[in-house]
Amino acid sequence: MNRKDLKQEKTCVLIKPDGVKRGLIGEIIKRIEQRGLKIIALQMIWATKDQIDRHYPKDKEYIRQLGEKTLANYKKYGFDAKKELGTDDVFEIGKMVRGWLIDYLTSGPVVKMVVSGIHAIGMVRKIVGQTMPSQAEMGTIRGDFSVDDATAANREKRSIRNIIHASGNEKEAEHEISFWFSPEEIHDYKRAEEDIMF
Ligand code: ADP
Ligand code: MG
Repeated sequence: MNRKDLKQEKTCVLIKPDGVKRGLIGEIIKRIEQRGLKIIALQMIWATKDQIDRHYPKDKEYIRQLGEKTLANYKKYGFDAKKELGTDDVFEIGKMVRGWLIDYLTSGPVVKMVVSGIHAIGMVRKIVGQTMPSQAEMGTIRGDFSVDDATAANREKRSIRNIIHASGNEKEAEHEISFWFSPEEIHDYKRAEEDIMF
């Protein structure tokens, strides 16, 4: 990766339906922009189930991670996953969570964007905070604006409402950007601060 590329790492962000319905679009964009990250593509859409199914990874490893995060959360609060969900198998739980996630992401419009900048993938994840809002640090989007938790969400057989999606790694970022945007919809321009900030 040359120096120019380093400043142009790209990541994909979706403001989820709860973020849109709560009027947090401006607040989220503000936090991304104030960090010196650049929005290079932006659109509101009402996604279909098929689109969300293709947006999130389907591989075993991802499903296992979803299940594991859920089980760890149950353990932390002393809840019995088998009693609540009918299973304590990580894959079964992972698949269940992925299904709820598709319902959640299609329950209203989402704002999709591509964000570019130095370490954009990691930086945006830092701005966003941990998956479980109840554990997300104050000062992050999820920590400041949400309080949901897996134990509460799973009891109601729904996804955790955590306002925003951001690509978790380079592979996800590449897939999501090319899935949601055509090359003509992504714009290359210079922000005024670029010569001063980095
Ligand atoms: P992140 O969005 O932080 O990358 P994941 O990729 O692990 O997190 O999960 C995708 C989304 O699935 C989360 O943002 C959240 O909305 C939902 N989710 C994850 N784990 C659970 C869970 N245990 N129960 C309900 N929903 C979950
Ligand atoms: Mg993820």
